[in-house]
Amino acid sequence: MLKINIIPALQDNYVYFLEDEKTGKTAVVDPSEAQPVLDFMKDHKKAKLDYILNTHHHGDHIGGNKELKEKFGGEIVAFKGDAHRIKNIDIMVEEGSDFKIGESAADIYEVPGHTLGHIAFHFPSSMALFCGDTLFSLGCGRLFEGTAKQMWESLKKLRSLPDNTQVYCGHEYTYANGNFCLIMEPENGALHRRLIGVKRLRDAGRPSIPSMMGIEKKTNVFLRADQPDLLANVPLAKQDPVSVFAYLREQKDNF
Ligand code: ZN
Ligand code: FE
Repeated sequence: MLKINIIPALQDNYVYFLEDEKTGKTAVVDPSEAQPVLDFMKDHKKAKLDYILNTHHHGDHIGGNKELKEKFGGEIVAFKGDAHRIKNIDIMVEEGSDFKIGESAADIYEVPGHTLGHIAFHFPSSMALFCGDTLFSLGCGRLFEGTAKQMWESLKKLRSLPDNTQVYCGHEYTYANGNFCLIMEPENGALHRRLIGVKRLRDAGRPSIPSMMGIEKKTNVFLRADQPDLLANVPLAKQDPVSVFAYLREQKDNF
């Protein structure tokens, strides 16, 4: 099992500090900047960092790599297809690679769309998914490099994980995302109930993360491009999932 700590960074990024309970091995996921991680480690008396995991190449996910690696010697774990734009990768991975933090094994998924190289780390024994900017709580990443089809396939891959999977994404966007979902699916009762809880957490200054895959499937419109309840609100003649997903993404981009 992994102990998972949430470290807020930059404006609205989340960095995750992981510790394998059995072995004490540690890792950090998507360190946008080093300082909040250093502060966390000092406060919690953590002296070592074994791995630095990156989901994709954007600066707000790798900005702290260099300093953390220099200070602690942590090995950088990232997608082998991104070796040209993520510096000094020590462990190159791709879908199906074996990777472990101590005794906690990760399944690695390639989930392109936001960027062409983008991976997600799923730790089945901890029921935890780290999905960067592919799947957000009540949203998904913008299509900077990939196509709607690629992103929809990536989201379907993540959607097939167990309902009790905890979703740790790259940003705190839940409330704004939820307001967009409400416009697309105003009669979704689960979504209304969920947003009340999200607002309460945010008003108390707490993260809305992790989310759960089961509830994402019921409330995140980007995972629902093939669901009849959502399709009833989509004014497209051709309602295949990729076209519907592309429509939703476009609406969100202009929201
Ligand atoms: Zn990004
Ligand atoms: Fe990001």
